[in-house]
Amino acid sequence: MTDATDVAERRKKQQTKIRIMLNSLKAGELASMKGGEDTVAWIKEELCIGCDQCTIVCDDDAIELYDKPLASPIMNIEVNKKARVLRDPCTGCKLCVLSCPTDAIVMIDR
Ligand code: SF4
Ligand code: SF4
Repeated sequence: MTDATDVAERRKKQQTKIRIMLNSLKAGELASMKGGEDTVAWIKEELCIGCDQCTIVCDDDAIELYDKPLASPIMNIEVNKKARVLRDPCTGCKLCVLSCPTDAIVMIDR
């Protein structure tokens, strides 16, 4: 049976794997993107599918998932997660932008 320690360990390994992959594949994109301490990540809620990739890569615990009620009452889905950035801990490192499969994250001026 999987316990919390196993999950934490697997999450850490996945975090490292994603970071290495992103760094190698998107180094050029990262260099040309706005970032640094004068910027903060911003998530476009309508594009977020709650996949949790950004929270995995964020070292600074600056992203959290929250429940968003579905707009349509005819869809019976219990969990509808969205991500949001916590401005204060965000360092502007840009990693979350590269991890997002739906391009929901952009860097904006603080
Ligand atoms: S820019 Fe960096 S610190 Fe800020 S939310 Fe994204 S991954 Fe976290
Ligand atoms: S990686 Fe993108 S789509 Fe996935 S939870 Fe984060 S903002 Fe939402």
